Amino acid sequence: MTEPEDAPPEEAGELTAEEIREWWAAYREQRCPWCGGLHVRACPRVKSMRFDNAGEKVLEVAFWPDGKWLDSFIDWPEDMPEEST
Ligand SMILES: [Zn+2]
Repeated sequence: MTEPEDAPPEEAGELTAEEIREWWAAYREQRCPWCGGLHVRACPRVKSMRFDNAGEKVLEVAFWPDGKWLDSFIDWPEDMPEEST
């Protein structure tokens, strides 16, 4: 067992059961199709997007290479505690 170097241990521990439940509810509805995380801003993984003429359908997406985009404001499901039932 090695300690994760950059994991802030205090963060996940401060969430209440209610907050965790809300997070998973938001995640199920708003999960980003491009990076798989939950975030409010535009997806940082997406370099550029091409839409159809109506501007509704994404025709093409270009991604930044792995490690070249900032994911610090994304919540990842693997960092979240499981919902207590
Ligand atoms: Zn995203």
